Amino acid sequence: MPTVVVATGNPGKLKEMQVYLDALGWELQLKPDAIDIKETGTTFLENARLKASGVAQALGQWAIADDSGLQVKALGGAPGIYSARYAPSDRARIDRLLQELEGIDHRQAQFVCALALANPAGQIVVETEGICPGEILLAPRGTGGFGYDPIFYVPALGQSFAEMSPQQKEQHSHRGVAFNQLMPKLQQLALE
Ligand code: IMP
Repeated sequence: MPTVVVATGNPGKLKEMQVYLDALGWELQLKPDAIDIKETGTTFLENARLKASGVAQALGQWAIADDSGLQVKALGGAPGIYSARYAPSDRARIDRLLQELEGIDHRQAQFVCALALANPAGQIVVETEGICPGEILLAPRGTGGFGYDPIFYVPALGQSFAEMSPQQKEQHSHRGVAFNQLMPKLQQLALE
C-alpha cells in the first residue's frame, strides 16, 4: 500500500483518523484544498464514497474519506448529513441545536460515521458505518474534541465527548466504532 490521501479538510477529523491510519504504517497525505468534492449524496455512506472516489480519481492515488454527523431523534434525524452546513461555525451550530431543542425533554441522539477507501481508479474497496448513541445536553460541557462534542453526552461514561480523553473518545465514538470494524480489512490491504 503506497501513499493514502485523507479526503478531509476538517482538522478534528484528521487528528482522530490519523491514530488508526498511522498504526497501519501507511504514508498519509492531506487532500489539497483545490480538490473540493461536492457532498450530493443522501446518506453518510454515499457522501463518504463520493469523497473517497472523487479524490482518488483526481489524484490517481488511494484515498480514504469520513462522512459523519449528528442525528437528533426529536428533530427527525436533523442535522444528519447537513451537520457541517447547519450554521457557519462550531459555536453557531451548537447554539442552533440547543435553541431548536429548547423545552424538549427527549434528547436522544446518535453520531454516525461512514468510512470509505477508494483505489487509484476511484473504485470503493472497503466501507463501513459506525454509530454512537447518546443525548444532547442542555448546555455545553468540556473543552476537548471538536464540532458538536461539548453537547453530546454518553450516558455509559457519564461524560460529554468534549470531557473525554482522546483515548476514551477513540474507544467509544462513532469514528472509533467504524475504524475498529474497518481495521482488519485495512490491515489485509496493507499486507498486499
Ligand atoms: P462532514 O462529514 O465533513 O460533512 O461534516 C461532519 C460534521 O459533523 C462536522 O460539522 C462535524 O463538526 C460534525 N462531526 C462529525 N464527527 C464529529 C465528532 O466526532 N464530534 C463532533 N462533531 C462531529
